[in-house]
Amino acid sequence: MPTSSISGSREIPPTAGLPLHFADLLARRQGDFPSAVAAFLGVPEAAVECSGTACLVVILKTLQRLSGRSTVVVPAYTCPLVVFAVAHCGLRLKVCDVAPGSLELCPQTLENLCDADTLAVIPTHLGGRVAAIDPIVAIARRHGAFVVEDAAQALGARDRGATVGLAGDAAFFSLAAGKGLSLYEGGIWIARDPALRAELARTSAETISSRPLMEIRRCLELLGYAAFYRPRPLRHVYGAPLRRALGRGDPVAAAGDVFSPAIPLHRVSGWRQSVGRAGLARLPRFQAALKQRALARLPHLSRLPGVKVFGDGDGATGTWPLFMLLMPHQGVRDAVLAELWGAGLGLARMFAHALPDYDYLRPWVAPQDCPNARDFAAHSLTLSNSLWLDDTRFDFVLRALERHLR
Ligand SMILES: *Cc1c(COP(=O)(O)O)cnc(C)c1O
Repeated sequence: MPTSSISGSREIPPTAGLPLHFADLLARRQGDFPSAVAAFLGVPEAAVECSGTACLVVILKTLQRLSGRSTVVVPAYTCPLVVFAVAHCGLRLKVCDVAPGSLELCPQTLENLCDADTLAVIPTHLGGRVAAIDPIVAIARRHGAFVVEDAAQALGARDRGATVGLAGDAAFFSLAAGKGLSLYEGGIWIARDPALRAELARTSAETISSRPLMEIRRCLELLGYAAFYRPRPLRHVYGAPLRRALGRGDPVAAAGDVFSPAIPLHRVSGWRQSVGRAGLARLPRFQAALKQRALARLPHLSRLPGVKVFGDGDGATGTWPLFMLLMPHQGVRDAVLAELWGAGLGLARMFAHALPDYDYLRPWVAPQDCPNARDFAAHSLTLSNSLWLDDTRFDFVLRALERHLR
């Protein structure tokens, strides 16, 4: 069957975001969104900012004030916005390679990068998977550095029964479009230590002001998200620009990796928070449905010859916005992408490159070797776990993968 007839007029989003209901937009349960998020996470307190990046800015500025150090170590395979948050704070960036065949910081490389100026290390929980934070904390502590968990893609992921983000000093989650629960743009930060939470709240109060025009724009964008985040409209608002980017051979735009260093910082209105509160009420059931779907599909993906599918280690319960696959070699990965990225079936890439390989990051990221992150960028692909990816479509993708791997 040709790809066009299987995708029809629908577009499966690359990640399983929570669709909004019309009623969410009318719910007036203002103000208690942060406490509802805290209850969902099982922590005493959580705070809302206008993006995950804004949370990271608040966290880094706070740590900077507490320690006076100025270098931040980030993984070589992560969201370019992390680089801009570090730059926004006037801090120095060091890029640490990931471990071979892994999404996680390489402990040995990290050990060699840390020194007396290391303010913080930022390990990442990518794609809902739970990274091992304890080894990173051990290294950071030896050097007197903080650990900030980037859980942008892992709201709801748990490690040994507790939310991710409590093994290090502070953490943030993203509420951007497509990252699960969404305010169109938004973020949540948490911290284990009450004294640090007070410092973070102080930074937020002192540095983030309300910008009504920016917030009105976000309100309109959230309305657009509510209206268009479903398979038919996504064909136009997500699929069409994606296929244009692929057509001109621009994987960075196709992966949605084009960002600006100008980070909007402003307060999130009560209305957007009340929409978040309404969506949050459905999140546990939604995530349970995604998990059930993922557990049913994982065995099929794991049987693909030579393919590594990322899952949960001991004690970890991740979330399932998507499946992350590592292909046996770049040729087959590229062949699969050539056929299916842009086919409307939820097959895509996470980040297009390792951080040093984005042209537009050149002013902030020094050229350097990070072979494992490069390898990961060249071998990996993602498959959506959206509930809209029905069995017919999933089987079609599975058959295509099998064909390419023969
Ligand atoms: C999306 C993302 C961010 C930034 O979050 P925003 O809410 O988009 O600002 C940071 N880190 C990772 C790994 C991400 O995926």
